[in-house]
Amino acid sequence: MSKRDYYEILGVSKSASADEIKKAYRKKAIQYHPDKNPGDKESEEKFKEAAEAYEVLSDDQKRQRYDQYGHAGVGGAAGGGFGGGSMNMDDIFSHFGDIFGGHFGGFGGFGGSQRGGGQRVRKGSDLRVKVKLTLAEIASGVEKKIKVKKQVACTHCNGTGGANGSSTTTCTTCNGQGRVMRVQNTILGQMQTAAECPTCGGDGKIIKDKCTHCNGDGVVREDEVITINIPAGVMEGMQLSVSGKGNAARRGGVNGDLLVLIEEEPHPELVRDENDLIYNLLLTVPMATLGGSVEVPTVEGKVKVTIAPGTQPGKVLRLRGKGLPNVNRYGTGDLLVNIGVYIPENLNKEEKTIMEKLGNSDNVKPNASASRNFFSHFRNMFE
Ligand SMILES: [Zn+2]
Ligand SMILES: [Zn+2]
Repeated sequence: MSKRDYYEILGVSKSASADEIKKAYRKKAIQYHPDKNPGDKESEEKFKEAAEAYEVLSDDQKRQRYDQYGHAGVGGAAGGGFGGGSMNMDDIFSHFGDIFGGHFGGFGGFGGSQRGGGQRVRKGSDLRVKVKLTLAEIASGVEKKIKVKKQVACTHCNGTGGANGSSTTTCTTCNGQGRVMRVQNTILGQMQTAAECPTCGGDGKIIKDKCTHCNGDGVVREDEVITINIPAGVMEGMQLSVSGKGNAARRGGVNGDLLVLIEEEPHPELVRDENDLIYNLLLTVPMATLGGSVEVPTVEGKVKVTIAPGTQPGKVLRLRGKGLPNVNRYGTGDLLVNIGVYIPENLNKEEKTIMEKLGNSDNVKPNASASRNFFSHFRNMFE
């Protein structure tokens, strides 16, 4: 069995625009949607065929390869079947938010229901927490223990929701399907969509004797202390995801995830710029003139820095590797020390005398090259 031409499947010309392809696919998807044609194998095949055609033609690169090499160019060389099984129903439904602009939430649920043979796998909701970190913690990476209130499986009924060994009956509203068909009026006309059964909440079963501890939900709210390993180099606004540490699902299923939002506590002296740190160091006039040694803060405590005699304001010292590590382990940033010079504002008589004496010396007067350097530094700053 050879594969049909993708343009032919969608009923568009080879020069169709992206918009025309999208519209054509939308039409086919509605026409052959499994919810509209329950149990009709031919429709299901056509539905999948259209999805595959759209998958290729909606992607500029794939479309180009397809135009040039045909099915062989997009990995569908072996005729028959569906792209060698590369795309399943879930993949198809995952495109729908994009195609239908989120109008058909019910379809997504339908996709889910195909997993696990009839009953969809429930997933607990994600849990969101914020964690505030100091620069020192970010520099080294840190293990944080946080207490959260979350839904956990009820231990009395092992998360089933039934009192000890309580039997279940098939839900009569949905005949055990867990889903009911619902007619929706949309901009595209009347659509039949699948929705969660309101009677059994999607289980397809009714528990005869509910567990009294969880009221049949299979979950209870409890405090839990969760240990989170935060890697070095994270940044404000980053979100880490800890799989399976979110809320438990009602009556079995898989846990949601724990989403950890990173917040950064401002450092009293250091400013972060990506992986670099910046420190503004103000020198005294004698220190800038004569040189010496000063202490500079880093995330790991103070370090001594040598100031060369005649250090000018605006000079930047780079302390390599004293910044923060890259979160993807691509090296470590630097600590940039911006040097300024403090000009004293209040001098006593003796100090004034010294300054006046100094002022008369030719060596304290800027020469032509000094002022050239100074202004070229400013030009560089603004360019
Ligand atoms: Zn229970
Ligand atoms: Zn039901």
